[in-house]
Amino acid sequence: MSAELKALIEGSERAVVFTGAGISTESGIPDFRSPGGLWTKMAPIDFRDFMASEEMRIEAWRRKFAMDGSFAAAEPNKGHMAVAKLVDTGRVTHVITQNVDNLHQNSGVPTDRVIELHGNSTYATCLNCGARYELAEIRSHYEEHGKPQDCQFCSGIIKSATISFGQAMPEAEMERATEATLECDLFIAIGSSLQVYPAAGFPIMAKKNGAKLVILNREETELDPLADLVVHEEIGPTLAPIVQLN
Ligand SMILES: [Zn+2]
Repeated sequence: MSAELKALIEGSERAVVFTGAGISTESGIPDFRSPGGLWTKMAPIDFRDFMASEEMRIEAWRRKFAMDGSFAAAEPNKGHMAVAKLVDTGRVTHVITQNVDNLHQNSGVPTDRVIELHGNSTYATCLNCGARYELAEIRSHYEEHGKPQDCQFCSGIIKSATISFGQAMPEAEMERATEATLECDLFIAIGSSLQVYPAAGFPIMAKKNGAKLVILNREETELDPLADLVVHEEIGPTLAPIVQLN
């Protein structure tokens, strides 16, 4: 399987890597959507509720700060490092990710090569003017006043830079992901169950456009029948030898 994947990568001129929770669970980050995952026990806060009430915003930040400690120390694993090497050698043009953990950037993929479909949980932004805020600053205000601060520039609502349920997909990222997908000759979906749309539409788009499709995931996915190569293995141990990562 690894040999076949290696041959496909070596035969490609412009590959795109697409990643989901599975690549980060190998770094100890829980998959909230999985059976038994956090979101099956406690429903996530919908974007409309977040916007509608300060009480919900206080609760959202309380959960955020309570949870952050558990995976703030997570580090990129061999899977991330292998992907970074593929970007570095020019084989892979972009990494489209459903993850919000910043581990692709932490593994050395340049920020402009990472397309985050669901945002980023390691900082916050003003929903009105887009100003960026660091979590430590928001946290100290929250702990002092018992509620989150408003934007210092426009008084807008500040929210973790992730895309919540009920929140619109980020337009610029969707456009960039579409462009990268339509330009690639090989699309490698890694660690995603490929069930969450519109994200799962990208492998289909690539395949319809003539690219080869590889799916690397521990479990079966609904798009397996569409793929040129399916590998049901751990991600790091599969990718590391392909890029000669020690
Ligand atoms: Zn603002």
